[in-house]
Amino acid sequence: MNTYFNSGLPLCRPKMLQDEWVETYLFRVARANGIHRPRLSDTERFRPTLPATAVSKPNGYPIWSETTLPRWSVVTRANKIRYCPECMTQSRHIRSRWRLTVFDVCTIHHIRLKDDLAEPVMTKGYRQENRYFITEVTDEQLWAGAVCPMPSERRHVERLWSGFERSIVENDIPGACEQLTCILFLEALLDAFATEVREYEGASIGATRPTELAQLVDRYQFSLETNLDGIRNFLDQITVGSHRDKVLARLRRMLIDEAHRPTCFSKLPIADLRRRLLIGFEKSIRPADEILRPDHDQPVGYVSLESAASLIGCPSRLVKHLIDNDICQGVRIARHGLKRYTFLPSHAVETCRRWHASNATPEQVINELHIDRRGFVALLRAGLLRPIAVDPYKFFQRSDLTDLCRRLEVISQPFPTEAGHLYPLLGAWIPKSGRYKKASLEVLKEAFTGKFAIFRQRESAGLSAYFVDCAALERAHRLRKGEITGCTRQKYASQQLSLLPE
Ligand SMILES: [Zn+2]
Repeated sequence: MNTYFNSGLPLCRPKMLQDEWVETYLFRVARANGIHRPRLSDTERFRPTLPATAVSKPNGYPIWSETTLPRWSVVTRANKIRYCPECMTQSRHIRSRWRLTVFDVCTIHHIRLKDDLAEPVMTKGYRQENRYFITEVTDEQLWAGAVCPMPSERRHVERLWSGFERSIVENDIPGACEQLTCILFLEALLDAFATEVREYEGASIGATRPTELAQLVDRYQFSLETNLDGIRNFLDQITVGSHRDKVLARLRRMLIDEAHRPTCFSKLPIADLRRRLLIGFEKSIRPADEILRPDHDQPVGYVSLESAASLIGCPSRLVKHLIDNDICQGVRIARHGLKRYTFLPSHAVETCRRWHASNATPEQVINELHIDRRGFVALLRAGLLRPIAVDPYKFFQRSDLTDLCRRLEVISQPFPTEAGHLYPLLGAWIPKSGRYKKASLEVLKEAFTGKFAIFRQRESAGLSAYFVDCAALERAHRLRKGEITGCTRQKYASQQLSLLPE
């Protein structure tokens, strides 16, 4: 093998292809030099010898010019190889951009990235079934199981990523890096926003990250442009106090992180952007609020925002939200220097406390009913749970939860000793999507009226204790058969029949 290194360079040096990922390129170099099954040690020997790879590190992070990317935005060499089947059909090489964690859809072909390819030695679990080697995979295998994003998600990823991907393909690396910085920055802020919304609205249940973000962007009608003005515009569009707090906290975290390890984000005026959001917040103080000066003593009959949150038993941001939306009224604001203090009338806090105690958040519903997210969605879609929207939060009356449990308790029978033929009430027989969903939800609704036998397992809690037998599944099947017609019948029936007893 030393023959490759007589001149310090491998004898055969294939040209690096467009946006080719350094790690898989090194494997290609090794193979071109006669090593049939290259090992990591081979690629590491070649790495410092080639001008195109000498600046790279063995961690496998993608590199474009000198840009340092935040660690959360890139995956290491050990992570799965992802690819767009159409791009791979056109040229069999792995692109650097597919190593970005938040890049999920190819915006040239509108196909979601797949992850069933392996480079032996490098990828963990390359011996697993349904995994193909880069050098051996066929076009059919590349395309197997490929999916397109939903229309709203496609719009979202196109808005964010298509400019960057176009620049990469046109070899405009400085332009691509500039856009990538803004895209990742917006992705980070959207993530902070989504965390806040998820906690109280349950908007993301069952959805993948890009789908969830696409739904949020559509819902709040954010316009997203991948430049500095676009970031400023995005910050101006955040109007709900609790959302703004979460984004402010994320910006603060970024300032701290950048001080420790500067990345491309340091090119953005993060402190100015944060100030802009804070000033927007100051401006949004309603003129009707009484401003107490000069001290910040607590007015008689009022409690501070923090005390109110602990009395009500909810996060301060929810109290702020109730104030912002005039649900909690009579608030007084005191200023001391640059600091603002919020005081709420005690009687309003008591009203909020009673209201909050009688309601549950989506997370609490899931815990208290002992169900999973899938079961929660099924109850919601069947109309058995009725959300109260305190935009953007969602709550559920605790009395409704008790009522659901009581209804089942009354109609249920003891769990039989031989229970092989029973199915969990909120189990897999209710599909998440497809034309069968409607019929199954109808049957679930009927189950609560005592139309079928319901069995209760004493040792289990909440709704996880209840089971149905094949009568419910047969009923769902009959309903489905009534719904479906023509050529689709065969396809759907074959999927569903497997759940039914022979
Ligand atoms: Zn593609």
